[in-house]
Amino acid sequence: MGEKDCIFCKIANGEIPSKTLYEDEDFKVILDVGPATRGHALILPKNHYANLYELPDKEAVKVMLLAKKMAALMTEKLGCDGFNLVQNNGKAAGQTVFHFHLHLIPRYKEDGQTLGWKPLEPTQEELEDIKKIITE
Ligand code: 5GP
Ligand code: ZN
Repeated sequence: MGEKDCIFCKIANGEIPSKTLYEDEDFKVILDVGPATRGHALILPKNHYANLYELPDKEAVKVMLLAKKMAALMTEKLGCDGFNLVQNNGKAAGQTVFHFHLHLIPRYKEDGQTLGWKPLEPTQEELEDIKKIITE
């Protein structure tokens, strides 16, 4: 189930070569060509889903199990000091390739990267309002 002109469909299905770390019938794990750190990799489903909203539950479960396995393997092999999982949905969230992917980012002491945000300072009332919007 590929999508025409989708670069990650082409990579996941072997039409375009990649540095592949792992492959099974559902997923390919490849090195990112513009890595944040040494060993930065991406989990790609072989089927095309644009983002998390489109990802079927069955694949969502599998992707997290695979992330856990890859994080353990990469931490052991690379000797990293920490690990980020990053997953962007939509342009506003920084998504640039519109085929679901999960970033596996090994972190090293003093790697110079920041994957953070500037914390806002909401009042208790604002937090309560947001809670109501989401839960009611
Ligand atoms: P996003 O910003 O959509 O969450 O992440 C897209 C990621 O895909 C970026 O980190 C970028 O470096 C990576 N990327 C884009 N094109 C290619 C490619 O052709 N091959 C590989 N291996 N990674 C790519
Ligand atoms: Zn695709």
